[in-house]
Amino acid sequence: MSKNNGRFAEYGGQYVPETLMGELNKLADVYEQAKQDPNFQTELHDLLNNYANRPSLLYYAKRMTEDLGGAQIYFKREDLNHTGAHKINNVIGQALLAKRMGKRRLIAETGAGQHGVATATIAALFGMDCEIFMGKEDTDRQRLNVYRMQLLGAKVHAVTSGSKVLKDAINAALQEFAARPDDTFYVMGSATGPHPYPTIVRDFQSVISQESKAQMQALTGKLPDKIIACVGGGSNAIGSFANYINDPSVELIGVEAAGKGVDTDLTAATIEKGRLGVFHGMKSLFLQNQMGQIKPVYSISAGLDYPGVGPEHAALAAAKRARYVGITDDEAVAAFEYIAKEEGIIAAIESCHAVAYVQKLAPTLSKDQTIICTLSGRGDKDVAAIAKYRGVDLNE
Ligand SMILES: *Cc1c(COP(=O)(O)O)cnc(C)c1O
Repeated sequence: MSKNNGRFAEYGGQYVPETLMGELNKLADVYEQAKQDPNFQTELHDLLNNYANRPSLLYYAKRMTEDLGGAQIYFKREDLNHTGAHKINNVIGQALLAKRMGKRRLIAETGAGQHGVATATIAALFGMDCEIFMGKEDTDRQRLNVYRMQLLGAKVHAVTSGSKVLKDAINAALQEFAARPDDTFYVMGSATGPHPYPTIVRDFQSVISQESKAQMQALTGKLPDKIIACVGGGSNAIGSFANYINDPSVELIGVEAAGKGVDTDLTAATIEKGRLGVFHGMKSLFLQNQMGQIKPVYSISAGLDYPGVGPEHAALAAAKRARYVGITDDEAVAAFEYIAKEEGIIAAIESCHAVAYVQKLAPTLSKDQTIICTLSGRGDKDVAAIAKYRGVDLNE
């Protein structure tokens, strides 16, 4: 294992069968070498800039700033990336590692389909085989994304074990990885899972805060006061935080999906409501019942309804270096409508959880303070669901 042993305080680690351990340690070694290799960095940045459309804008939200009447609000526009979200940053990096390891077959899990689409996209670009594991419930709910992945040349497996959702898709992908490690690379979708994935995914997503820090410096000559990002598994948030963790004046705020409310069973607020456990190869916080079984999660946003959270977030919360708040479905939908009307941006419902917290926080701050909120993705995929939430039938 690498220097920190894959631990973030008491969280993280590598809780996997023996067969996988060797493969994960090989990946950790290859990643350590790649990090130091200028050729790897050049190829990574060439793809980020010329394929994924980086650097993403740091956009000053003038109308929202005036309307809310407090802190200056900036959005880090990951919604403008190719494939419409931050996920591509990580997938490009992991696919380059796969290439370096001589693997020709990418597998991945997906919930709503966003990570599956990003993986299928890069597999097409690299001429690799691609197989995506997706819960049967989700393949039924997200037929458009299933077809999109097929257009990109991927094979989509409908997973019928367990509750047939994201957590079951991750189990199936981990099993497939263990069964066929020779030619297969598992592209993990969030800053979760066994070591070295939480570190690798954080590093590939940290381009978000590397850019935002330089952009903020150019615009204001200062550090931002607050960073706000939504948290599912935690990849866009950890990438948004990474380059500020050692700047104590910058407050880091992660926004979880409270669903119908943190005190109901219909929630995905893992840090607020979760307990210590081991699942999907890592020690972290998970929503569990009395027996320690993983509880079903709920949120209006498919990208945030994961029953766990990446181990580095659990550690940042325990150390009080970051704080985590819950935003309900109702608040997120209102924010979806608000940012569309105020700024002309249709943002992903996941990202709108962060926007809703900006609406609460900005008016309590002074005009010389600044907030950077990450817009993790674009909201075209959510328009039909929001209409339905408001009782509008688009098929009439
Ligand atoms: C997948 C997704 C998320 C949640 O994943 P994280 O790993 O927590 O970033 C958030 N926003 C969008 C747009 C997504 O596609």
